[in-house]
Amino acid sequence: MKNAIMGLLGCCGFLAIVLIIFMTIGLVAFRIQLFQLRSFAKRFPCANCGTILGIKSLELADTEWERQLEEMRREHSDVKFKIVRTLHAICANCGTKYRFVKKDRTFVLYEAD
Ligand SMILES: [Zn+2]
Repeated sequence: MKNAIMGLLGCCGFLAIVLIIFMTIGLVAFRIQLFQLRSFAKRFPCANCGTILGIKSLELADTEWERQLEEMRREHSDVKFKIVRTLHAICANCGTKYRFVKKDRTFVLYEAD
């Protein structure tokens, strides 16, 4: 009985450690992507007006993305969505929308689905 309990605790402990490792990797990956987005936004000129996008453009996109998600949830409350974010920046000067392409490390014009 003691061995069974120790085995169960060992198994749970192992799973907890694996879970913590995966959560840490996910958090680090998220922070790296956020850092990349911010660095590229600080030097990317808007294709429409030439203004550097900057951090404000990322904040505008966050707000707009949340608004779009909320609208989808309201319109289709019985549907579970699996959505990949495609809007990452909105020019604070002219409103042009951009998607960040990680593999090319650049912003491209956003096309609504
Ligand atoms: Zn612009």
